[in-house]
Amino acid sequence: MNSKWNGQFSCFDLVACPADKKSDHVRAVVEAGGIEIGGSDFVVMAGPCAVESEKQLLQTAEAVAKAGARILRGGAYKPRSSPYSFQGLGVEGLKILRRARQLTGLAIVTEVMSEEDVELIAEYADIMQVGTRSMENYALLEALGSCGRPVLLKRGMTATLEELLRSAQIIAMAGNPKIILCERGIRTFETATRNTLDIAAVPVLKTVSHLPVIVDPSHAAGVRALVPVLARAAAVVGADGLIVEVHPFPEEALSDGDQSLTFHEFRSMMDDLEPYLDLQQRSRQLRPQLLAVGGVD
Ligand code: PEP
Ligand code: MN
Repeated sequence: MNSKWNGQFSCFDLVACPADKKSDHVRAVVEAGGIEIGGSDFVVMAGPCAVESEKQLLQTAEAVAKAGARILRGGAYKPRSSPYSFQGLGVEGLKILRRARQLTGLAIVTEVMSEEDVELIAEYADIMQVGTRSMENYALLEALGSCGRPVLLKRGMTATLEELLRSAQIIAMAGNPKIILCERGIRTFETATRNTLDIAAVPVLKTVSHLPVIVDPSHAAGVRALVPVLARAAAVVGADGLIVEVHPFPEEALSDGDQSLTFHEFRSMMDDLEPYLDLQQRSRQLRPQLLAVGGVD
C-alpha cells in the first residue's frame, strides 16, 4: 500500500467492520433476502430500469432468474433528469416487485430517493438502492441507518472514491453496516460512452474497505453493445457482482432502453461470464489493508 492511498483514504473509519481492527480485516458479507453478497458467489442483479407494468416485470423476472440472476432490480421511484420523463409507478411499482418476488423467489433491489419513503420502501425491498444523484443526500443516508435493510450505495457521478466511502460511513455510523458499494461510471470529458467506467475503483475500494463492491455496466456504457464486455472486465478485476438493466423490448422501454439488454443478450452475457469468473478468484480476495481512523469533515 503506498502512502498516497494511506493519506487519501485515511478519513474512512472501517466502523462497520466486524473484525478486530488490529488484525487483518476480513471481507464483509452482506446478506439480503437469503443471498450473500461479498461471499464466494458472484451475484448478478438484473431487471428493467423502471417497473412499467406487471407483465413487463414478471416476464423479465422469469427470464433473468432462468439465466442465473439472483436479485431483481426495477425502479418504482425514478430519478429523471427531465420532469417530462416517466417518473415511475410509485407504490404500485413496489407491489408489482413484491409479486415478482413471490413468483420467482428473486430478492428485490429498488431505489429510494427520499428519507420520507424509506419506511415504505423497506417493506417491499430486500436491498435499498441509493442512486448516483442521491449519494450526497445526507438526510436519506442517515435515515437508511435504521431501515433494517442492506443498502446498495451507488457512486455519485462526480464523486471521488473517498466521497463514496464517506457516504458509506454515514450510513454505517447511523447504525447500518450492511452496505454494498457500486461503481456505475463517472462523468469525464469522454462522450463515446454515457459515463466512464472507473474499473480501478473495484480493486481500490476492495483494498481500502471491507465492503462488497459491484459494478453497473449498464449506466456506465449507455449502449447495450458495450454492457457484456464491461461486465467481463468487472468480473476479472474482482467485483462481487453486477447490476444490469434488462427489458423484454428495449426499444419500447420508458427509461434507459438504449442500454437495456434483451433476454437473449442477457443470457449470452451470463453464459460468457464463466471463464472470466474463473480468472477473478485472486482479485476477489483482496484484503483491506488500511486501518483508517476518524478525520471526517
Ligand atoms: C438506475 O439504476 O436505474 C439508476 C437511475 O442508476 P444511477 O443512479 O446509477 O443513474
Ligand atoms: Mn436506469
